[in-house]
Amino acid sequence: SENLYDLLAGGFPADRSKPCFLLGDGSAISYGELEAAAGRIAARLLAEGVGPGDRVALQAEKSPEVIMIYLGVLKAGAVFLPLNAAYTAAEVDYFLGDAEPKVFVTDPPAFVRDAAAHAPLAQAVPRAASDLASLIYTSGTTGRSKGAMLSHGNLATNAVALHRAWGFGPDDVLLHALPVFHVHGLFVALHCALLSGCPMVWLPKFEDAAVLAGLRRSTVMMGVPTFYTRLLANPAFTREAAAGVRLFISGSAPLLPSTFAEFEARTGRRILERYGMSEAVIITTNPLEGERLAGSVGYPLPGVELRIGGGDETGVIEIRGPSVFSGYWRMPDKTAQEFTADGFFVTGDVGRQDPDGRVWISGRAKDLIISGGYNVYPKEVELVLDELPGVRESAVIGAPHPDFGEGVVAVVIGQGDEAALIAEARRQLAAYKAPKRVLFVDELPRNAMGKVQKNLLRERYADVFS
Ligand code: ATP
Ligand code: MG
Repeated sequence: SENLYDLLAGGFPADRSKPCFLLGDGSAISYGELEAAAGRIAARLLAEGVGPGDRVALQAEKSPEVIMIYLGVLKAGAVFLPLNAAYTAAEVDYFLGDAEPKVFVTDPPAFVRDAAAHAPLAQAVPRAASDLASLIYTSGTTGRSKGAMLSHGNLATNAVALHRAWGFGPDDVLLHALPVFHVHGLFVALHCALLSGCPMVWLPKFEDAAVLAGLRRSTVMMGVPTFYTRLLANPAFTREAAAGVRLFISGSAPLLPSTFAEFEARTGRRILERYGMSEAVIITTNPLEGERLAGSVGYPLPGVELRIGGGDETGVIEIRGPSVFSGYWRMPDKTAQEFTADGFFVTGDVGRQDPDGRVWISGRAKDLIISGGYNVYPKEVELVLDELPGVRESAVIGAPHPDFGEGVVAVVIGQGDEAALIAEARRQLAAYKAPKRVLFVDELPRNAMGKVQKNLLRERYADVFS
């Protein structure tokens, strides 16, 4: 059978008393305990009539029990559907109506306790590689979240590829401070650890003191860019504090070149940036051995075909390969629209590729600005602004403009003189690319994964030119 559970359990250490979760209070949960709990949960689900293809939804705070339930659902052959703990009741209603789960878990510890009476299921329910394993809703950065259908085969091939690419082994300890309702924390991070049979420093969320303490016992950290900017803002994060960590990995949103450089200056380590999405898990990664470059997301993983659509040097990234999802849940038209005739998924991210295969992302197609008939890629403008005095970070958007269709607007964290910044940008960029307005803010709106929500900025600043 190609049930993902069997692959993951095959990575568990021969000595099942080895810890899987290292918890904040100094206690641990062993691989044996994880395995037994998953087996009991699978047995309970089967007893309740949950079968192959049935969705088991879960909305709860992060805990080891969430992972026990995830593995139990896989083992039972059902489909795991995690929901962001921050969703409101109305939002949850939408997702439950869309996904129609057979079971909805809101109290994982109670759910695990209630399964204790069942004898662990011995064998995982057989599944084919193409059978659905998980339904993951996208982050909703560009619009309403879509349910990405990921199969056992999609997840298994990506897990094996990452485990190899990042050199994971049984002696690693992974610092896990990511949420587990999203591919990054649930699949990318967790699967690497399980396949290695290594422990995770398990943190409910990113909290400076706990992360700094956790790093002293870890060898690998995975995070979103905001984790790294928060570490750098803390003077206690020193070269010495990072000394035992062999690998820092970043993804889910673009890592600023300034963060990459500052991190290297502080720790002597280069952050390894990779690129992924709910629809394909990880697509490209910078190399473990070899050059990691600021602003590049590295090379396609083995087995991933990547090309730039549209015939120009820069265009929308299209991908095909064993981890690419089969489609959006109950959205056949949307799914058909996003695949080319020869089976490539159109990611919606704009980028370019060097002759040796290295990929550079310049933003999302939906964020492209068309001003006076010319295309403006926000990233190009942001990179210029981010180097100017007084600017910590910038987000460039288009706002409706009476003459140009859209006018370029820069929303900037920092302070300074609007006219001076515009003048300096005009010296470095063609006039149509330079911002016509610069607006200073204390924070940019971000979602749970630290992604800047440009749709909210576009709404907020829709009237700047009217
Ligand atoms: P939605 O599809 O609902 O609008 P989303 O695209 O943010 O939301 P996810 O699937 O969580 O939902 O995120 C995938 C996206 O995150 C990618 O398409 C890409 O735009 C962005 N991303 C991920 N990693 C990187 C990276 N290293 N550099 C730049 N962008 C990245
Ligand atoms: Mg998306």
